[in-house]
Amino acid sequence: MKSAIEVLNAFDTIRPARAADGYKPHKPLLLLLALGRVQRGEPRLVPFVDAEPLLKALLKEFGPTDSESRRHLPFWHLHTDQDGALWDLSAPAALLNRPAGNTPTIGELRSNHVAGGFHPDIDSCLRTTPGLVSACAHRILGKYFPSTLHEDIAMAAGIDLEEPSWVGEPVVQYAAQKPEKRRRNAEFRERVLRAYEFRCCVCDFDLRVGHVPAGLEAAHIMWHTAGGPDIEPNGLSLCALHHKLFDLGAFTLEPMTLKVLFSEHAVSGTRGLSGALRHHGQSIHLPTPLELRPAPDFLDWHLKSVFKKGARPA
Ligand SMILES: [Zn+2]
Repeated sequence: MKSAIEVLNAFDTIRPARAADGYKPHKPLLLLLALGRVQRGEPRLVPFVDAEPLLKALLKEFGPTDSESRRHLPFWHLHTDQDGALWDLSAPAALLNRPAGNTPTIGELRSNHVAGGFHPDIDSCLRTTPGLVSACAHRILGKYFPSTLHEDIAMAAGIDLEEPSWVGEPVVQYAAQKPEKRRRNAEFRERVLRAYEFRCCVCDFDLRVGHVPAGLEAAHIMWHTAGGPDIEPNGLSLCALHHKLFDLGAFTLEPMTLKVLFSEHAVSGTRGLSGALRHHGQSIHLPTPLELRPAPDFLDWHLKSVFKKGARPA
């Protein structure tokens, strides 16, 4: 059995699939799904056919457009991370011994009754160390997803984040880094909100409680977890609601015109001026200095990696 520290480190060193067209959260989402199974005391190995609907739903909601069509890839490829020390596969030898690059299809995973789960060393440590599942889940969420989505993703993956986290040596070190991160976050927020004159650039929300802006947040256009920098051209001042919708990919900004584009997947029963979709096609409230405005490169990333394609008709 591995120690709790070794297990946490194993989650820190997965190779996320990255491609030219954006960021691939396939493996992190599969790991969260598997952590949820452990937390609920379900068997170590899950048949691909049983995991498939949940994985598909998670990818559809939190992954780039169409990522659910490649749901078999993390289930299969996670096995090659750390030489199989993290993710274990039960499959016919003929399938397992295929040369790299010859990945089985979804149909082959189904018909060969392929099952997967954490390696027994990892699995037994997760099940016997109180709070370790929660600590690992926090680690994955913090590394790959913006905080606006943590609760939603955990709930969809069936993980209870309320469970007190295992507190060990690496968690203490992690906590020691936090003040620096907090300071950076606070500076970024202040600079972005000031550039947009303390209002939501989509809906003009600008409530203050006393002198303090309330419900207003600085969003990263290219997620911080995907390498997006803490600079104004990668930031937007958004109300809490529009921040969440932006991180979910319900809308984006057209990179050249900077107009609001809602996804055709975003549906609302309320139409017209009071409706949730009323800002579709509108220009946003922009900072006056050109150099503080959103940069097309970051908006391109959001359009390709986060936005739920396609856009609603104008
Ligand atoms: Zn707003």
